[in-house]
Amino acid sequence: MNKYIETVLKDVRAKNADQKEFLQAVEEVLTSLEPVIKANKVYEENAILERLVLAERTIIFRVPWVDDKGKVRVNRGYRIQFNSAIGPYKGGLRFDPSVNLSVLKFLAFEQVFKNSLTTLPMGGGKGGSDFNPKQSPHTPGKRCSDAEVMRFCQSFMTELYRHIGADTDVPAGDMNVGGREIGYLFGQYKRLSNEWTGVLTGKGLSFGGSLIRPEATGYGDVYFAENMLAMRGETLEGKNCVVSGSGNVASFAAEKLIQLGAKVLTLSDRSGAIYVKDGISEDLLKTIMHLKNVERGEFADLAKKTKGVKFFKGANSWQLADKIDCAFPCARQNELDGKDAAYMLKHGCKLVGEGANMPSTPEAVNAFLKAKVMFSPGKASNAGGVATSGLEMSQNSERVSWTREEVDNRLKGIMKAIHDNTWEAAAKYGQKGNYVAGANIAGFTKVADAMVAQGIC
Ligand code: NAP
Repeated sequence: MNKYIETVLKDVRAKNADQKEFLQAVEEVLTSLEPVIKANKVYEENAILERLVLAERTIIFRVPWVDDKGKVRVNRGYRIQFNSAIGPYKGGLRFDPSVNLSVLKFLAFEQVFKNSLTTLPMGGGKGGSDFNPKQSPHTPGKRCSDAEVMRFCQSFMTELYRHIGADTDVPAGDMNVGGREIGYLFGQYKRLSNEWTGVLTGKGLSFGGSLIRPEATGYGDVYFAENMLAMRGETLEGKNCVVSGSGNVASFAAEKLIQLGAKVLTLSDRSGAIYVKDGISEDLLKTIMHLKNVERGEFADLAKKTKGVKFFKGANSWQLADKIDCAFPCARQNELDGKDAAYMLKHGCKLVGEGANMPSTPEAVNAFLKAKVMFSPGKASNAGGVATSGLEMSQNSERVSWTREEVDNRLKGIMKAIHDNTWEAAAKYGQKGNYVAGANIAGFTKVADAMVAQGIC
């Protein structure tokens, strides 16, 4: 390995020994940058890698709130402003008990490259809390009430608001942060700052949200896959697809796949996975979206009352189908491991389009790359969400609202540009067809060049 990269990695490992997700993300990116670092001494001379692996600012704060029984609860809040070389910090907020510094640093680090790939002027950040809206703090098996979620969001924003702004840092949703949470957060921001600005994206349509934003990450993931297949003269029509998750990204990836004539055989959630032999129909997908978004239920409940749906308790989506053409991991980090990859390859898998962030473990990524399947890393193929957030920011600044068709066409254009830039960057540095290397190189070069141009800061 290149000496400079090795030295930086050694230092990162020593200083972040307990942060395995962050180390995994940094190692994956830095090791793939070798040809660029070798060819451009200017990056080493300007200590670009040392600066790139350290967040510009990390804010950790207390979030006290009162539950429905009148008891005071306290959670930990975070905002990591990782890199602002090419634009204001931009990246989602995640509310989940698994949230910690390592997870958010990995997500913020990845976001820097992803945002760079979108072709829009956005830096990278991420934030969230270990608050769990899916588990009431006082009643086992029940979710937090809307009022509890609102009080939590208001308290979270009471600290966060001083660190963000339309030209400083523009958060969005992520796991467990959807339209309801963004609405409460926006309301509190407006109240505290006494101004109406596009400080959050993923807002409701009646207050500055963009059409297609909810669909954008899942649709974009599928558009990226269409671009990969087009290189081989193929389409998604008739392809057997396995999808994981059943949240925002997974449900809209499934919707677009069905619209394009593919068969969606699986989806999953925390309770397990479902398998539908003939493919999930549009009607069944509507039922699933209602179950997850309105009833806030689990697949364990669905299988009991729906014919043709097989439920596998505690399982993931990867080892249920006999014939797999394409896979779309859309739930969470490290949800697809080496064993899953081996099964999928044995059963015909030719394409993996990551919708989640870092869903494949390093063993799985290596297996897919070795088998030369079309493999798109999340930072490229799930960038449609943040790209459409960028379009929401543009509409807010101009005080306009574009039509559904206009936003969808722009999203398609952006996903094609990300695909082509990624493909070309890989080819330029001797790694034709390797979208992992291509995404890291293309994302890195733009940010690194901006950092060099802006001097030591
Ligand atoms: P979401 O709506 O909260 O959905 C997450 C899904 O993953 C849910 O179906 C959830 O199951 C499942 N899940 C979470 N933890 C799990 C676990 N430990 N075991 C099994 N299943 C689990 O979140 P999302 O917005 O779709 O985000 C999904 C992924 O995409 C994340 O990696 C996120 O960072 C990434 N991403 C999202 C966006 C965006 O615009 N939303 C953009 C780019 C990347 P339950 O339903 O049971 O909770």
